[in-house]
Amino acid sequence: MAYDVIVIGGGLVGGAIAWGAAAKGASVALIDQGDIAFRAARGNFGLVWVQSKGAGMPAYAHWTRASAELWPELADTLAGATGVDAALRQRGGLAFCLTDAELEERASLLTRMHNESGDIGTRIVDRDEIRAMVPGIGDRVVGASFCPIDGEAHPLHLLRALHSGLLRLGGDYLPGRTVDAIDAAPNSFTVRIGAERFIAEKLVIAAGLGSRELAPLVGLRMPVTPLRGQIIVTERLRPFLDYTCHTLRQTVEGLVMMGDSQEDAGFDTSVGVPVLRTMAERNTAVFPALKEASIVRVWAALRVMSPDGFPIYEQSERYPGAFAATCHSGVTLAGAHALALAPAIVAGELPEHFAAFSARRFDVPTH
Ligand SMILES: Cc1cc2nc3c(=O)[nH]c(=O)nc-3n(C[C@H](O)[C@H](O)[C@H](O)COP(=O)(O)OP(=O)(O)OC[C@H]3O[C@@H](n4cnc5c(N)ncnc54)[C@H](O)[C@@H]3O)c2cc1C
Repeated sequence: MAYDVIVIGGGLVGGAIAWGAAAKGASVALIDQGDIAFRAARGNFGLVWVQSKGAGMPAYAHWTRASAELWPELADTLAGATGVDAALRQRGGLAFCLTDAELEERASLLTRMHNESGDIGTRIVDRDEIRAMVPGIGDRVVGASFCPIDGEAHPLHLLRALHSGLLRLGGDYLPGRTVDAIDAAPNSFTVRIGAERFIAEKLVIAAGLGSRELAPLVGLRMPVTPLRGQIIVTERLRPFLDYTCHTLRQTVEGLVMMGDSQEDAGFDTSVGVPVLRTMAERNTAVFPALKEASIVRVWAALRVMSPDGFPIYEQSERYPGAFAATCHSGVTLAGAHALALAPAIVAGELPEHFAAFSARRFDVPTH
């Protein structure tokens, strides 16, 4: 089977790139390991979050902002083509602070980001303003940061829309296949899976935590590691929240999701009461009425983290035509992956400003 582009990894990163490449007219195969893999795309929190992304790397802050701006076009195009609504809501985002020290720290982060990356309308809201904005807020909340372009989406609907959109554009979605062998030459790649052979001029490694092993096969480096996050879901409640919150959101179905921890636990996806309790305590301090809500589900999933937490996008110098794509915010960056990165991959060249995302940065310590 011969294609213009093969994408390895059918999560949100690979799915968005595959769909975006197909939308540019490329013939595309999306190869995915399936349910035996660790799949962040199926266990995440669903934020389209901008306000705190990119401190120390303005290129990432600008990329995140660009993605938030591209998201409405992505959601509309996918809904029109597939009938699947990714439930994008960009009503602004709040990150609550429970102590003066937290609020000061948040304010200094926003100042730093403003100075490094420009103004996106993010501001600190004080105790009185936050009470006027959000009814039912707890007494312990001393303030919050607010960003008007933050929001959320339904990650499972997004994933389904990307896969379904790819099929409608004539692409192939090939699940249940684990890639472990690639024959590489410049602009010529053969992916071998058992007796099957898939050939393409361009190859994208977007296999989440599986990328670490695959990247060296095509002269790339993707030194990603897992970072566990746990999530709590309550029963459905009447809509009570007009904004997206950093650690809490109400889905279109009325469920309340609380997230999300950051734990260095290797490849362990088990949940644990101590962390869940801490998450519940913090969120019920913000919204005391949630103490009455029943928890119906909890889970843990693994983030895909680079050493500095920023994305890696790069074309292989040794095997041009092979590209690396990984990040820890595949929902937020879906707009940019589908509508900016994928066209650049189809064109065969990443624009100059992508140089900041090369894995070469790990060879040059900044502090
Ligand atoms: C708890 C949690 C909360 C999160 N919250 C948010 C959030 O609010 N907002 C946000 O933007 N992001 C969030 N994320 C991150 C987001 O989920 C990921 O960035 C996103 O899922 C993209 O991941 P991915 O496609 O790189 O990897 P994955 O979703 O893990 O997909 C990788 C795919 O590669 C396939 N694969 C692996 N190895 C191979 C192989 N050898 N051959 C073939 N296929 C292979 C697997 O089958 C898998 O489907 C969160 C993540 C977690 C864990």
